[in-house]
Amino acid sequence: MGRNKHNLDTSHRNLMDEPFWQRVPAWKDVDEATFLDWMWQSKNTVTKPEQVLELLKEIVTPEFLEDVREGFRRASMSVRVSPYVFGLIDWDEPYTDPLRIQFVPLASRFTKDHPMLTFDSLGEQKDSPVQGLTHRYSDKALFLAMDTCTVYCRYCTRSYAVGSDTEDFEKMRLSVNRKRWEKAFEYIRNTPYLEDIVISGGDTYQLRPEQVTEIGNALLDIPTVRRIRFATKGPAIMPMKLITHTEWVDALTGVVERGRKQNVEVVVHTHFNHPKEITEITRKGLAVLFARGITVRNQSVLVRGVNDDPEIMKQLVRRLAYVNVHPYYVYVHDLVTGAEDLRTTVQTALDIEKVVRGSTAGFKTPTFVVDAPGGGGKRDAHSFEHYNRETGVSVYRSPSVDPDKYYFYCDPVELLPESGKKRWADPTQHDLILQEAEEAAKAAQAEIDSYHQDDGRLLRLPTLGGQAKSDVASGAG
Ligand SMILES: *Cc1c(COP(=O)(O)O)cnc(C)c1O
Repeated sequence: MGRNKHNLDTSHRNLMDEPFWQRVPAWKDVDEATFLDWMWQSKNTVTKPEQVLELLKEIVTPEFLEDVREGFRRASMSVRVSPYVFGLIDWDEPYTDPLRIQFVPLASRFTKDHPMLTFDSLGEQKDSPVQGLTHRYSDKALFLAMDTCTVYCRYCTRSYAVGSDTEDFEKMRLSVNRKRWEKAFEYIRNTPYLEDIVISGGDTYQLRPEQVTEIGNALLDIPTVRRIRFATKGPAIMPMKLITHTEWVDALTGVVERGRKQNVEVVVHTHFNHPKEITEITRKGLAVLFARGITVRNQSVLVRGVNDDPEIMKQLVRRLAYVNVHPYYVYVHDLVTGAEDLRTTVQTALDIEKVVRGSTAGFKTPTFVVDAPGGGGKRDAHSFEHYNRETGVSVYRSPSVDPDKYYFYCDPVELLPESGKKRWADPTQHDLILQEAEEAAKAAQAEIDSYHQDDGRLLRLPTLGGQAKSDVASGAG
């Protein structure tokens, strides 16, 4: 079979455009106008395991139902799924559906956490000068405006902060929030080195329009702030809000426009993981933002069984580009309690990246990153000093954070070869495994250093008939 010189696959343009939610018996009479109403979506968001079980009882097998029931009992996260997401799940194939995997836990899929999880995966709380503000890296800080989300992802990195959300709780927190916000703004004001604020959470979709305006204005009042990002998973979970919650979109637009007048970049960062999450409703919603000149970037998480496949990732990236979103990052899954079955290996990330890069415009191609445990920050997945595929340990450095420190990421044990599994099964091996990896990283660096000349420059290796590479490059101009 011959191969096309060009990739002629255009399936990324085929967006779901049917009343898919009517497959759920409880919503079979819900018309499109109702379904597009963001208030209907909010009101009908599933927040209790019993609701999930109730909605599913006629359409899945009793065995699956039991698996869900038991899964909720063991899960460390609360449940919160919009009708949009719930309706998109293919309940005829619930075990393999990419949305089910992300939001509805199954007892049968639980696997043991990685032994190194106790390390603490990101340790953000240590770098909070005031509650709800993480200033850990250079000129940027993370402002956690609230602690509820539009959805609870099983793999949430911030499960320490995000969770329970009864009505009473929410009201209580909001009044507390105002004072907390003020403290965060004060810190930003007094830290002129900060230029870039990520407003996250929780989720800025959950902010009321006047809160969006308030936070936006407070940050725009600080002359040293040059970049603001509103982070929200909302467009992937409840895209109709962008169509029907006009006050919210107007509030966001107001902040973006004020920013533009002051030469401050205000953008939206969102989180799609699978091409199926992008429907015709999504396209219409994102078109509203595009028409208002609002830049939207996407950060995905590489999730086993969801998007750990080159063709699916390629379709996601191209579909995002198609709806005017910039794919920004793909994260190798952090070490998170109770989500080990969702992680995959660094090697998988490398393999997928190789296929994705080149399939569309470079500026629509995400960078695959590992958020280095222990506070190394986001590292290009390829930039490891050393990667042992047998033990699954990759070693990263992060000179702008700490030039002397080595950071370790660990692939999930169950995806390692037998010999690697065996070593992790023996607790006395754990320190040794990391030590070996660090030594190998140092040895690799020593080899590179051996090519340095006395003045520290890297030797230019002779190529092409003895000419040094850089001479050829400059000659070719
Ligand atoms: C991810 C992150 C940022 C933003 O990093 P970028 O690479 O600029 O997107 C800022 N602070 C913290 C703590 C983060 O985790």
